[in-house]
Amino acid sequence: MNWRYDHREFLPPNLVQFNGKTYIVPGWRRVAKDTRLSNIRHVKPQISEVPVPTSKYKTIYYPESGKYHCSCMGYWRSKGNCKHVKALKLENNGK
Ligand SMILES: [Zn+2]
Repeated sequence: MNWRYDHREFLPPNLVQFNGKTYIVPGWRRVAKDTRLSNIRHVKPQISEVPVPTSKYKTIYYPESGKYHCSCMGYWRSKGNCKHVKALKLENNGK
């Protein structure tokens, strides 16, 4: 494909001739006269994602055993020392 232009709008691009000039609408971006719709790539803007609440993971401290458990993926990957456990350890040590 030979894209010439990225069209960063929610609505699909359209070419409009106005006063002998070519524009992509919406946005009214002036482009080369021989531009075709196939030269324009429609890049839909990203809707900013809602931040994931930290409460998504449950980090538990078992005082009896002195062990920590966390439900996040990092807990398994780090063999029980994910950032949540580290944070909780720090918090417990501070007391
Ligand atoms: Zn974790």
